[in-house]
Amino acid sequence: MLHIITLLGLAVLLPASLSAGPLFDGHLHYNATHAAHYSPQQIIEKLACNGIRHAVVSGMPASHTASLYRQAPARIVPLLGVYRSPDDKIAWPKDASLPARIEAALNTGIWRGIGELHIFASDRHSPVFRRIIELAAQHRLPVQIHGDPAVIDTVYDIAASQAVIWAHAGTFPYPDLVADYLQRYPALTVDLSVRDERIAPNGEISDDWYELFVRFPDRFIVGVDTYSLARWQDFDAAVATVRHWLAQLPDAVARLLAHDNAAALFGITEKSMQPDAMKLPGPEHNCS
Ligand SMILES: [Zn+2]
Repeated sequence: MLHIITLLGLAVLLPASLSAGPLFDGHLHYNATHAAHYSPQQIIEKLACNGIRHAVVSGMPASHTASLYRQAPARIVPLLGVYRSPDDKIAWPKDASLPARIEAALNTGIWRGIGELHIFASDRHSPVFRRIIELAAQHRLPVQIHGDPAVIDTVYDIAASQAVIWAHAGTFPYPDLVADYLQRYPALTVDLSVRDERIAPNGEISDDWYELFVRFPDRFIVGVDTYSLARWQDFDAAVATVRHWLAQLPDAVARLLAHDNAAALFGITEKSMQPDAMKLPGPEHNCS
């Protein structure tokens, strides 16, 4: 069976299994600017009607992520965002008060990871960054990092088995470089959000990314990355773009990238799922 979806105004045929299958979105944000337009209930409806069974969510400030999590605790995997305002996104590596705030937040027990941390090579020796990695290691929590390859090397100098989600396949998303890092660091997971155009130029998956996914099928996760309000407004189309290239992979590989790798990373089994995450409307559901 095939489903017809509309992508950039074109009708596209997808195998039924993947166009309708569950997704685990590994990279969403629910910031104050998004919360002003979409209530937690509306966000959860958006996820449900797009077949997103689980989603990793962070936000600025973190209180909005907590509200979303309380709305659907089985669907939302909350990451502790450490920015209170856009200024913090630049200033945090020099903010000596940050580790204590993170430590206090982690003690509330709801957070399943820390991030997204934006950090470039020049800040990689920041004592604040080192302390955050130590806290993550101590609490056994993954860290979502948007940063340079050298930052990843620094994390693994600090904590050799730390789970890291490398957002957007890093700042230099070349398949050979990504393969090198996956080989070097077994606890590294690569997030493919907002790299659709590189992975599948004009919608067709490129040979080098295809081969990379087949070679390391259990090391990648997908995500939309709602970095702006417009991204939430265009959410359905962004999900369709990801589903379109996923459907070009061998079924077993696609399922791992679409859902199972992220589920394994966060220790989510079908058994542990609550009914609110299982309710998935059919693909004919109108999301808008
Ligand atoms: Zn992001």
